[in-house]
Amino acid sequence: MSFLTVYITDKTYTNGVQAIRDLHFQVAKGEFVALVAPSGAGKSTLLNLLAGLDTDFQGKLAFPADASLSFMFQEPRLLPWLTVEDNIRLVLDAPARHTDLTRFARMDLLLQQLGLQDFRQLYPNQLSGGMKRRAALVRAFVTRPAVLLMDEPFQSLDEPTAQGLRQLLLQLWAEHHPTVLFVTHSLNEALLLADRILFLSARPAQVVLDYTVPLPRPRPQQLSELQALQTELLQRFPQLLSGSGVSSQPFANPAAPKL
Ligand code: ADP
Repeated sequence: MSFLTVYITDKTYTNGVQAIRDLHFQVAKGEFVALVAPSGAGKSTLLNLLAGLDTDFQGKLAFPADASLSFMFQEPRLLPWLTVEDNIRLVLDAPARHTDLTRFARMDLLLQQLGLQDFRQLYPNQLSGGMKRRAALVRAFVTRPAVLLMDEPFQSLDEPTAQGLRQLLLQLWAEHHPTVLFVTHSLNEALLLADRILFLSARPAQVVLDYTVPLPRPRPQQLSELQALQTELLQRFPQLLSGSGVSSQPFANPAAPKL
């Protein structure tokens, strides 16, 4: 059953740039969906619409009214004048801040799980890029979001650090099971993380392929283990990553390729 429905007929900015046209898809509860598209296709625009940060569009977005939402951006966006712990406390609801022990227990557990327990009193400029992302992951999960929107959260990190963070994200997702929309440029990253990948066209964004990842979980430890699957997919759809020259009609989901 669909938990989240995206039915956007038009999103045009005031400067006349049409970022999205006829973008339609549905996501099931707890599903991990990756969005892969060329740069400038309209992915961030879509996440901003879903987050309610921008309401100026034609169409419909539907998800349960009580569904809580977290957003994790390309930059960790920690406030530099607050410690790690205070950055996380900030997203816990103000009225409950000093009384809700469950939330604080959850924060402590997440800090521990992500190896930040000894660093909670540090400020963001005292942390490595990977530690900042781990703090941002704690902040994203501490509110137990029903929907988690992630906009290239592991960009610009060295590969071992990014891979460590992907494994942490998979652990957290398996435990908490939010519905995830994860934007990435990396096909390997999408194959590693997602149940389903929506490939979008170049701007205005439309779905050109709705692809179910034919891999069991737990997923491989290294991106390199996915190379065969990536190669097969790109042989089948050579222009998939350019978002151009592909049919404007959605493809049928292909049969699962052999690994
Ligand atoms: P992506 O995240 O896929 O790289 P974006 O959603 O950021 O793409 O942008 C899609 C298109 O919309 C781009 O051409 C971009 O220049 C344009 N765009 C994004 N934000 C604005 C804005 N606030 N005003 C005008 N045009 C914008």
